[in-house]
Amino acid sequence: MVPVETVTDLHKIVVVGGGAAGLELVTKLGNRYGRKGKAHVTLVDRSRTHIWKPLLHEVAAGSLDIGHHAVDYLHHAHEHHFRYRIGEMTGLNRADKLVELAASFDAEGREVTPKRTIAYDTLIMAVGSTTNDFGTPGVQEHAIALDTKDQAVRFHQRLINAMLRVHTQAGPVRPGQLHVVVIGAGATGTELAAELHRTTREVAKTGLDRIDPAKDLKITLVEAADRILPAVPERLSGEVMTLLSKIGVDVRVKARVTEVRAEGVQLADGGFIPSELVVWAAGVKGPNFLHGLGGLETTRSNQLVVTPTLQTTRDPDIFAIGDCAYLVEQGSDRPIPPRAQAAHQQASHLLSQIPNKLAGRPLKPFRYRDFGSLVSLGEYTTVGNLMGFIQGKNMFIAGLFARVMYRSLYKMHEMAVNGTWKTALDSLARALTRRTVPRVKLH
Ligand SMILES: Cc1cc2nc3c(=O)[nH]c(=O)nc-3n(C[C@H](O)[C@H](O)[C@H](O)COP(=O)(O)OP(=O)(O)OC[C@H]3O[C@@H](n4cnc5c(N)ncnc54)[C@H](O)[C@@H]3O)c2cc1C
Repeated sequence: MVPVETVTDLHKIVVVGGGAAGLELVTKLGNRYGRKGKAHVTLVDRSRTHIWKPLLHEVAAGSLDIGHHAVDYLHHAHEHHFRYRIGEMTGLNRADKLVELAASFDAEGREVTPKRTIAYDTLIMAVGSTTNDFGTPGVQEHAIALDTKDQAVRFHQRLINAMLRVHTQAGPVRPGQLHVVVIGAGATGTELAAELHRTTREVAKTGLDRIDPAKDLKITLVEAADRILPAVPERLSGEVMTLLSKIGVDVRVKARVTEVRAEGVQLADGGFIPSELVVWAAGVKGPNFLHGLGGLETTRSNQLVVTPTLQTTRDPDIFAIGDCAYLVEQGSDRPIPPRAQAAHQQASHLLSQIPNKLAGRPLKPFRYRDFGSLVSLGEYTTVGNLMGFIQGKNMFIAGLFARVMYRSLYKMHEMAVNGTWKTALDSLARALTRRTVPRVKLH
């Protein structure tokens, strides 16, 4: 074990996880405390770049180029007065206040960074969530999840390869070939199914003339509940269902998957869906390493249990925000959902409470405000419901207004991370280059 690397008299704030919650928080902490030498701010992330997770289904479908949206942690840390340390957190020593990081290796197996520790006075856990396969056989081997940008890129490459294979093969399209099954019709699975429907047709049009989209390309969305988007109001779910049926996505509800095999997906009712590509998007849980981490209280699905001030129940110097935090608010019967808007609100709240923490004053409780749900069906449409928008009533929205609201969540994240000017310039640059590059990524 390499010795503790930080020697400073300043208060050490360490944020683990530079995602939707962590990157917003650490950027502002750097600007506010790091710049003025009031605290020593560090971000730890296992990745070298950040991409806002709700964009991953667009990366997988090929409608978004990751290079135009990724934030380079090292550069970003330098610009915003915090330190970035690459590494995967694997352990926690609460007695000595040390975060333990695993060694990292390059593609040839050579060590890049050694096993080491990072010292903290205040620790903020923001490590997000991973897909929960509920132990379903074959998922690890034959399905892809959309938890990381590498998985999204890998899925996109497999999709393009599958299309090139069909285009150049001698024989006809086999049963299941070019058939994508998306398991889980929550927001991620539903949005992916619609996005894939459009982009695969776009790719086929771009010179793959031996593929007949209507006949050869098939997308099936499988959901165990009795309707798609079970967590959103029924009207919203019904609108999305109508659109998916209209464009020809095969939707199966009340269909429980018991196994994923190389040739397709086995259902509990005995049905079998032959398929070449399978995406698992059914449910999330906290990362496995959180289970019992440093003796902290965790749920059965590996989330860190926090108090209303977002401090972990057994250690007030350790906070958790975003998907990895578990909090049931007073008066509610369910935990705050794992969503980008919750991550954003918790990051903002914690930023406002750090002065109290540093001064030893009491912290104010966090209150989650649910602004509603928006579901983007790519270029087809966007639909949603806004909560408490007019006189406390919910409002159903669709079309351009819904699309603007959907995009504004990402813009809020971009502005929190990059500031208004850089966000405006980046958006302009993307709008301009969109006219000179293919509408769908083809490689
Ligand atoms: C395809 C998709 C679409 C979605 N669409 C929406 C949407 O439309 N609206 C919405 O509200 N929500 C959406 N979500 C959910 C939303 O993305 C999450 O709720 C949000 O990203 C949670 O933020 P977070 O900061 O907690 O975690 P993340 O954004 O996942 O960030 C976690 C960070 O921690 C790092 N990390 C993880 N483990 C370790 C470790 N051991 N050591 C070091 N670093 C680590 C990761 O590299 C990552 O940078 C979507 C999710 C997906 C997958």
